[in-house]
This record gives sequence, structure tokens and C-alpha cells, in this order.
Amino acid sequence: MPSSTNETHNPNLKSWVKSANDPNTDFPIQNLPVGLFTRKYVEELPRIGVAIGDQILDMSAVTDTIWETVFEDMIVDACSVESLDFLMMLEPEEQSEFRRRVNRLLRADNFGDERYFAEGCLVSMDEVEMHVPVEIGDYTDFYASISHATNIGKMFRPDQPLMPNYKWVPIGYHGRASSIVISGSPIRRPSGQTKADNTETPTFGPSENLDYELEVGFFIGYGNDQGESLKIADAEEHIFGLCLANDWSARDIQRWEYQPLGPFLSKSFATTISPWIVMREALAPFRVPAYKRPQGDPQPLPYLDSLKNRERGGFDIKLEVHLSTEQMREKGIAPHRLSSSNARDLYWTFAQMLTHHTSNGCNMRPGDLIASGTVSGTTKDSFGCLLELTSRGTEPIRLPGGEERRFLEDGDEVIFRGYCERDGFRRIGFGECRGIVMPAN
Ligand code: MN
Repeated sequence: MPSSTNETHNPNLKSWVKSANDPNTDFPIQNLPVGLFTRKYVEELPRIGVAIGDQILDMSAVTDTIWETVFEDMIVDACSVESLDFLMMLEPEEQSEFRRRVNRLLRADNFGDERYFAEGCLVSMDEVEMHVPVEIGDYTDFYASISHATNIGKMFRPDQPLMPNYKWVPIGYHGRASSIVISGSPIRRPSGQTKADNTETPTFGPSENLDYELEVGFFIGYGNDQGESLKIADAEEHIFGLCLANDWSARDIQRWEYQPLGPFLSKSFATTISPWIVMREALAPFRVPAYKRPQGDPQPLPYLDSLKNRERGGFDIKLEVHLSTEQMREKGIAPHRLSSSNARDLYWTFAQMLTHHTSNGCNMRPGDLIASGTVSGTTKDSFGCLLELTSRGTEPIRLPGGEERRFLEDGDEVIFRGYCERDGFRRIGFGECRGIVMPAN
């Protein structure tokens, strides 16, 4: 067993919430991701919930009916507010204690009175609306998949696909926090300036090359002071948990605007995140070595290197993209899997991204979101965006039902899934990150 696992990871644990024991659920008792919800048809402030099977444990109800009489600490306070802010700011040991308490409450061998009360704190997932879990102050998107960077680079610079800095410095851009939306929110096709190769002047209109990017995001727990840098040895303690992210991208707008300062309006119109944050501790059994750099690649500079990062800096998370078009839905055809990849193939670890981000003294704040960049593998069935999958739109994808796609069309729904599996441990998942494309205004 990895040393950082504890009683909450025990694969033999079952819950008295029956659906949590389904082998296919993303949310068994070993996972316990947190999110923010309101009940449909109820006028209420958002509440913190923990996903368990197809149910949600309402943490403010748990606090009121059970915990307040038993515990008196920051954890209880953090659970009763209408945002995840305070939970995120807890010390790692307190976050661990939070998981232990919820785990014990939900165990099948819990026959105490508190179980009776906890049964009254369940809400069915069908009956809620999920919300962006925290006020996201800042959002940064990296470019950490070397396969993605190489594939994209080849299209624009065939003789030098990777820029000379790529293996030395984690590349990123500052994203837009205001347009981050929760899974299920419709995505309006953006309009913008584009210029075709064979024309002299640009035109303004709806993007014709709308794309998705399959990414993993992580939320900052407690931050760092401005002027102070995080050390790679401590960086992970600032990672509260992970989610799936779709960095919607208008490739035609991007192509015309990206030089010299990088992407701007081609990406700032929307980013979708999955609603459940899988806490870092829940992922302990699925930690893997950082990407093994091939012979000839430089080793990371000392501030981006540590033994722990080399041995356990990676996350083994399987990722999938599915597409469902309007026509497929009308014909009753199930969403079609476009690709699958794995977060363990990222060239830079999250700890390296975070360390690098603060290396100039930039301060991170609780709730800030950092995303990995498109996660692509080396083979065509593992490319994390349409730009790669269709070679810039030149090789369309065929869909069941006979349609073809170069880029996204109105009515297309993009669905990401993510999950972790390992022998000797319970499979856990991230749930879904969905978005449907609406026509331009
Ligand atoms: Mn991206």
C-alpha cells in the first residue's frame, strides 16, 4: 500500500447508501468528492455536498443534525457555509479528518443513531442543480502535454514543432475566470475576427472552427503570500483537489490573434468544469512517477525537481471524450467516444506547474483554478482535441449515423469522463464534464 493511503481507501469498505456499492459508480465511499448544489424547486443558498453513489450528502444538514453536537472545530464551520472556500483553506490534516468523518458516517457497518440522521441528509442527484464550487479568482491554463504541443507545433512549424523552451519551462497562459461554467451549461458559439490564408483582410463573424480541449484542472487550497515562492517539496499541500475541464477554443480566432501574446478571445468566452472536486487524498492510490524523460531531454532545473515529484508526482487518471450530435440524439444513437488519454503522460506534474507559477513571487489564492492543457497521448485515438484528431480539419471524423465532423457544430454535445483504476483499490471517478454548443448570437 502507498504510505499516504489510510482507512478511507480500504477497498473492502461498503456504504449503507446502496448505489455507492455499484462497481461502476464514480462515487464509492472511497472517493467522497465535494461540490456545491441547490435543490431544484427550492429557494435556497448553495450547500456543500459530498457525492455518494447517485446521492448527495448535504453537509450543512449533517452539520446541523449530527456534527454540531459532537465536534467543535473549523471542519464543522467550513461545512455549513454556502461555498467551498473554507473547506479548501483547511490544513491538509484537517481535510483528511473531514474525509475520515464522512467516510465513517457513510460506512455500512455504522449502525449508530447518526446513521439514522444521515439518511435524512441525503438528496438525490436528480433533484439538484450543481454550481461552480467556489469563487474562482484566477485561472491559469498550462500546456503540459508534450504530445499535444508536438502535434500542434507540427501543423504550424513542421521543422521545429517544439519551441526551444518547452522542456525547460512549463508554458501557460492566463485564462479568464469570469467565464468558467459548470458542466451542463450551454456554450454559445463565439464570434470574432478571423482571416483566411487567401485573403488580405480579416472579417468578423461566428467562429467556424470551434473545438474542445480535454484537460484536468486543480483547485488551490491555501495560497502563498505575494513575493513568496512555493518549494516543490510543499507545493502539493496547496492542491485541494482535481476536476475535469474543457477549455473551449475557437481555432480560427486563435490562429489570427495568438501572436505575439498568446490566446485571448479564442478561449476566454467559456471554460466548463465538472461539478465534483476529487480531493487530493482520494487520489493517493493512483499516484505514479512523473513522466519519464527520454534520454537526451534535459532534467528539470533544481527548483522544479525533487525525489518525491519524480517518484509520485504524476496522477494516473484515464480520460475520455465523447460526442453526441443533435442528429445522433434524434436517432437514439449513444454518444460516440472520440478518444481516450491519461493524465500520467503530462510532461510536467501539477506540483511543477504550481511551483513554477509562484517562482516569481506570484501569489495563489484559495479557489484559484489551474488546468493542465490538452491531455493527448502519442496515438491518434488519444488526441485530446479536434484540431489534432482531424489534422486541422483536413481529415474529418466519421460518426455513427453517417455524419462527419471537422470541428464542432451547433447542437453538438461534448462529454468528458475521467476515472482511476488500480489493482487492489476501488475504482473512483470524476463524473462528467458536459457542454452543448448553441448557435452564435
Ligand atoms: Mn487549453
